[in-house]
Amino acid sequence: MDLFEYQARDLFAKHGVPVLDGEVIETPEAAAAVAERLGGRAVVKAQVKVGGRGKAGGVKLAADPADAVEKARAILGMDIKGHTVHRVMLAQTADIKEEYYVSFLLDRTNRTFLAMASVQGGVEIEVVAEENPEALAKIAVDAVEGVTPAKAAEIVAAAKFPAEVADQVAEVLQKLWTVFIAEDALLVEVNPLVKTGDGKVIALDGKVSLDANADFRQPEHEALEDKAAANPLEAKAKEKGLNYVKLEGEVGIIGNGAGLVMSTLDVVAYAGENHGGVKPANFLDIGGGASAEVMANGLEIILGDPDVKSVFVNVFGGITACDAVANGIVQALELLSSKGEAVTKPLVVRLDGNNAELGRKILTDANHPLVQQVDTMDGAADKAAELAAAK
Ligand code: GDP
Ligand code: MN
Repeated sequence: MDLFEYQARDLFAKHGVPVLDGEVIETPEAAAAVAERLGGRAVVKAQVKVGGRGKAGGVKLAADPADAVEKARAILGMDIKGHTVHRVMLAQTADIKEEYYVSFLLDRTNRTFLAMASVQGGVEIEVVAEENPEALAKIAVDAVEGVTPAKAAEIVAAAKFPAEVADQVAEVLQKLWTVFIAEDALLVEVNPLVKTGDGKVIALDGKVSLDANADFRQPEHEALEDKAAANPLEAKAKEKGLNYVKLEGEVGIIGNGAGLVMSTLDVVAYAGENHGGVKPANFLDIGGGASAEVMANGLEIILGDPDVKSVFVNVFGGITACDAVANGIVQALELLSSKGEAVTKPLVVRLDGNNAELGRKILTDANHPLVQQVDTMDGAADKAAELAAAK
């Protein structure tokens, strides 16, 4: 999960990385009081999860509170590389003398952590890396040893930081490493790290990407999620612990096992070409234990998607046998109607593998008016596409 700049700044502050005071607002009018509190002058910065805001006009200096309102008005609502600005951060202005770059990241290729640093910060670091690669120092960081004072000094020397800021930069590097480890980040980046007129080193812009695999031990990270940006169906699925991704099409998909669901998407997209170009509406893997509750949760999400016209339930019985899945489907439909949720979309079910015949019999006996069975994956995909196209 990528964070907004203001969230990165909060994490920096929490771990002692020097930052400037600031506050996030959502309306231009709110800028006046914040600018006043910050001392009149302020920098107004678009909060979007994309780089190059400065160049796009998303970072502006305001001379006084009235100007801050004008600058906030100009930036709020702006489109920056496809991201609409809903929030701006007002921050204290810095008297910038020099701009540097520092970051820590997971280097998957070399199976290690990597520190990167340059005294040519501020501009796009990709350009520095491309045109002047020797100006970007890259130093591997051992996961167990971490950034010791000696390691910090090594990074500072490799990037040729000026002597007068060397100690401060080394200090910042060690604190940034604390952010990286303590917050389970995949990336922490400061660009620019600046030297101010009075010789202080301050992180002026931050980028942090958190490792979602560590969410279980980072309960505070949930609050950092941008709930407004998430698809509501995906948010609901996540709440229920389902592995769901919303897509653009009309055929709802439920399957067990990520591989099977992936190939179901392909087969449905292919079949859809013969039925007016209908496509899969989602990815949903209900995993191994397809209990009635899990099936009901999955169906509820998919049937709640207004784009869905038909549903294809594709199950290959393994450890969870098809009769259990069939009972799950029957009970799920009962559960949904008892909750008053009208099931009005046709379901095509294909059961194969362990106990397939028993599973099919259970569905046949249940005789639900909206459920029909097709024994092959290709045939079922074709039927589901046909039903979606007919709606
Ligand atoms: P980015 O373009 O998305 O990376 O946004 P940044 O926050 O890095 O800002 C871009 C540039 O704006 C920086 O490299 C600085 O040169 C400039 N900038 C940002 N804050 C200040 C400030 O407080 N004072 C001054 N003078 N310039 C600033
Ligand atoms: Mn920047």
